[in-house]
Amino acid sequence: MRIGFGVDVHRFAPGDRLMLGGVEVPAPYGVEAHSDGDVILHALCDALLGAAALGDIGEHFPDTDAQWRNEPSGRFVERIVELLSQQSFRVVNVDVSLLLETPKIAPYKRTMRENIAALCRIAPEAVSIKATTSEQIGFVGRKEGLAAYCVCLIEEVS
Ligand code: MG
Repeated sequence: MRIGFGVDVHRFAPGDRLMLGGVEVPAPYGVEAHSDGDVILHALCDALLGAAALGDIGEHFPDTDAQWRNEPSGRFVERIVELLSQQSFRVVNVDVSLLLETPKIAPYKRTMRENIAALCRIAPEAVSIKATTSEQIGFVGRKEGLAAYCVCLIEEVS
């Protein structure tokens, strides 16, 4: 068993939706990003890569490479899960904490869990999504952006 940890932050930009865990969530802003700016999936990518000590998302999918521009982040997760599988690792569980002042994501959690479960080839019951505000302090509290933290467990299959 190996543990991985990942963090991602994006700055808000004018817009009307956020991509979170592969779900389009209506919001009073969008994010500045080369891809779809999905902080949950980006933190997940780094957690998965970290567990296998395979580098980080920027090394695998550099934002200087036009190939990855506007690519749905789920494709990054899929490719990383495939990479892990080639190294004889499978995902055991995923736990995400999202820091976001608004909107509330409760109505979307189930779909996010199902999306992540499908990408990681595990059951939705092995995927946890939690959200908290930042009590109106810091960059999250001032609604300048959002952040996601993710831990995961992977296991070597013999
Ligand atoms: Mg990112």
